[in-house]
Amino acid sequence: MKLKEECGIFGGYSSENVIPIVKKGLILLQHRGQDSAGIAFGDNSNTIIKANGLVLEALTEEKLSGYTSNLAIGHVRYATSGGQNIDDAQPMSLTVENYDIAISFNGNIIEKERELCQKFLTCVEFLTNTDTELILKVIKKTVIVDKIEPNFENIAKILVKFFPKSAWSLLIKANDKIFGYRDINGYKPMMIGKTINGVFVSSEDWGFTQLGIEETTEIQAGQGVEISSNGFEIKDFYDITQKKQCVFEHIYFANPASNIFGKNVYQSRIELGKLCAKVKQIDADIVVPVMDSGFWSSLGYAEESKIPLQLGIIKNQDSLRSFIQPTADLRSDAIYDKHTIINSVVKDKRVILLDDSVVRGTTSKILITMLKNAGAKEVHLVLTSPMIVNTCHWGVDIPTKQELICNKFENTKLLANELNADSVTFLMIEDLKSIFNKNEWCYNCFNDIS
Ligand code: AMP
Repeated sequence: MKLKEECGIFGGYSSENVIPIVKKGLILLQHRGQDSAGIAFGDNSNTIIKANGLVLEALTEEKLSGYTSNLAIGHVRYATSGGQNIDDAQPMSLTVENYDIAISFNGNIIEKERELCQKFLTCVEFLTNTDTELILKVIKKTVIVDKIEPNFENIAKILVKFFPKSAWSLLIKANDKIFGYRDINGYKPMMIGKTINGVFVSSEDWGFTQLGIEETTEIQAGQGVEISSNGFEIKDFYDITQKKQCVFEHIYFANPASNIFGKNVYQSRIELGKLCAKVKQIDADIVVPVMDSGFWSSLGYAEESKIPLQLGIIKNQDSLRSFIQPTADLRSDAIYDKHTIINSVVKDKRVILLDDSVVRGTTSKILITMLKNAGAKEVHLVLTSPMIVNTCHWGVDIPTKQELICNKFENTKLLANELNADSVTFLMIEDLKSIFNKNEWCYNCFNDIS
């Protein structure tokens, strides 16, 4: 199974020991991946420490003690089921000529470009099935064949040549320098911030203030940054024509405190909730969010609809990740274990259940059934995204088209019936576009390829 690369990257330079700062940065990106964490550091060659698990489990004080460095890059990985192999954890590294190159990657290489790379790399041995290794080996072979130095500009050219339609926000540590690149479509976010002692690049900027970062800038599509002990420089490496920023980052992935793609995620979610309430009025007694994914938009929904918000569903923090469990039964069990309904809140109430999306429909169906078992009189499911009908080629973990519940039913009435809901309302793509109004977003999972 091909691994999805829907992860978090963090790295940078500090005149102090940078390792604890990068570890902290990775903790702040934990929501982007919980399967493994790792760090590559060293003022010239790379030492890599990585392991499966959360940042605090993988990068313990004990493992990091005794090391110091002014440069480091790190990674948190989200792997779908089957992707728990430690060899797949990042950063990954290799040596080419006199360069020790490590990479932390967030994105996905599209099938066509992967096939072309595999042809280019005939006879090259692979240790993993990951895009990260593919990118590293493409860089290595090009450096050798073209007899070039792996500097910022040359690596940018390699990335543009081999991966023009893929998603890649990535950090490369090449000896005593760090290069950051955001792909030419700008699918994935990349932020940069300065402290008194250094400079840091991160998938998201939430928590930057906790790290003492004051000035924050977004790296744009086709832009990158070169960092060394001499400072940093943001560099354009490609003139982009059209951006394709992942709208799902704002709908679901990113931390609400982040400001990515020029917008604050919290405000986007409030707007999404308000819009849902505006475009269709539903008679109901309370708005109940699916925690945590529907929480912020439920604030907007309640404000606009004037229907009171009630936290009738509690999320049990230590539960398994339901979305990536390998079988339908395990996914259902994980969702049951993950949620508790507060009967006194929902009993005899007409409930609006608010969530960001329906994928396979497992979460909604179970929660609606639980709400009804707890005495809810009606449950109206409202989603702050349009119907997901397409898989994602750029790194978002969306199952096959056949598994997507919106592809299984002709209309929302039949879907509501299947989900045990009294009604189901999706945001229409035109309405979504009224919030993300510039033509700079990827809506491919909603089958809008304009
Ligand atoms: P499902 O139960 O398959 O319908 O999935 C929908 C639930 O999973 C929603 O509560 C979403 O917040 C969450 N979700 C949506 N997309 C993803 C994703 N790519 N990875 C993990 N969780 C997701």
